[in-house]
Amino acid sequence: MINLIRSVFQQNLRGLSVSSSNTTLPSSRKTRSLAGTIRQSDGSTIKTSEEDCCICMDKCTIPKRLGCGHIFCKECIDTQFKYKATCPACGAVFGRLYGDQPPGTMTIYTQSASLPGYPDDGTIEIRYNIPAGKQQENHPTPGAYYEAINRPGFLPDNEKGRLVCKLLNVAFSRKQIFTIGRSRTTGKDGVVTWNDIHHKTRREGGPPRFGYPDPSYLDRVTEELQVKGVTEDTLDDPDEYKEYTRVIKY
Ligand SMILES: [Zn+2]
Ligand SMILES: [Zn+2]
Repeated sequence: MINLIRSVFQQNLRGLSVSSSNTTLPSSRKTRSLAGTIRQSDGSTIKTSEEDCCICMDKCTIPKRLGCGHIFCKECIDTQFKYKATCPACGAVFGRLYGDQPPGTMTIYTQSASLPGYPDDGTIEIRYNIPAGKQQENHPTPGAYYEAINRPGFLPDNEKGRLVCKLLNVAFSRKQIFTIGRSRTTGKDGVVTWNDIHHKTRREGGPPRFGYPDPSYLDRVTEELQVKGVTEDTLDDPDEYKEYTRVIKY
């Protein structure tokens, strides 16, 4: 889906640059082709005549190409990245986004019993454990105490479920699974809560009871992880599994 959106964007950008060069006077085109290529700080080069910066809508004087292929003025994109390390054209996330999840552990077990909707597969059971502690500087009320939590998460033990489990593991290492805020169920402030990556906390009961069957759940949670910058691209980096993680066997 994202790849499709990206390629549509690139086609649009290509379309734009073609139409703009068609309307360019020959003299200025000559000037630009004489300008040739510009060397970026990382040593790679970009043709100066190719792209407009979609932040300032002007030609890129000092261009910088992001990993997704989009090009911006170095100054424009560096300023944007101070707020959010995402591409303004396609939304691709760069660098790792870290959350404010308090210290804890994620433990993963497998069981032979199946989940509703996945009769041929066993179950992956995740247990998150965040011990009680004191809010830090990056939390809403530094110094205030929060209570311990234990939360389960269930996934089918099949290819897709194991992939989601690994992505959740990466998100946990980046402190993105939980945050400290207001509990949606009790309305109480200053508690450890889920952070917009939905979990199946029961085996059964369907969506109303946060259980299975729910055929689109694995796709939805994959998208929620993608929003946090956790994608398959990052799965092979052992650094992603270091923090607050134990008993991982894939
Ligand atoms: Zn610009
Ligand atoms: Zn982009």
